Amino acid sequence: FIVFDQVVKQFGSNRILNALSLGIAKGEKISIIGPSGSGKTTILRILMTLETIQSGKVHVGGEPLWHMNRNGADVPANERHLRKMRRKIGMVFQHFNLFPHMTALQNIAKPPQLSLDADKAGSERRAMELLDMVGLADKAASYPSQLSGGQKQRVAIARALAMDPEILLFDEVTSALDPELVEEVLNVLRDIGTTTNTTMLLVTHEMSFAHEFSDRVLFVDGGVIVEEGAPDDIFSAPKEERTRAFLKKIL
Ligand code: ATP
Repeated sequence: FIVFDQVVKQFGSNRILNALSLGIAKGEKISIIGPSGSGKTTILRILMTLETIQSGKVHVGGEPLWHMNRNGADVPANERHLRKMRRKIGMVFQHFNLFPHMTALQNIAKPPQLSLDADKAGSERRAMELLDMVGLADKAASYPSQLSGGQKQRVAIARALAMDPEILLFDEVTSALDPELVEEVLNVLRDIGTTTNTTMLLVTHEMSFAHEFSDRVLFVDGGVIVEEGAPDDIFSAPKEERTRAFLKKIL
């Protein structure tokens, strides 16, 4: 469903992804772990079309992401193609990125109105359902500045869900939160995981959550996937020395 084939990403001469290949099935829940600076966030940003790639191919749902086929030849994707592909994908960031001048409800209801031509009443009804799902029905009229970090992050997740994405990307969504607020956000991720068939990719430092939640864990280091497997195997019996060293340091 998601395929990276020999993807190279460089910032200047600095190679961040080093011919990285990866395949993810529809509905899979994947955690990406690895040291700081190893390229984890970059993988998500490439999928969200926030970063271009220098070589290799990315496919989403059987369609190329960063190139298109024109008269039998591969050409770089144009903005229209990227916009179409982007609709399948939602991303939640470490720092919430809510619109400060909009209420929680508006934050969730507006994006579908703007980019999916959804009608106002329908998108607000849906926004209320999603607020309810993330346990914030009573905060519909609150502005981001009136919410805790955990509440803001739950609004950000509801906003991503409002676009009905086939794929949801979560970039260290709990790492800016006070410890006591982490669990409320993880509960929402659990909920999405068990009640929808959304393909989910998490970059996370929450190893016990990754263990419990994921179908598969990818250990990334030096711009490649060093090791991948079922959470039990990765966390209890890692095969690669680099995985062992990383886990020993953080567990
Ligand atoms: P962390 O766990 O610290 O978030 P990460 O594995 O997610 O790390 P990335 O954010 O993917 O790492 O970054 C990989 C490397 O790319 C880092 O060395 C970073 O400095 C570099 N990098 C990221 N964005 C840019 C940019 N816009 N320009 C230059 N270098 C960048």
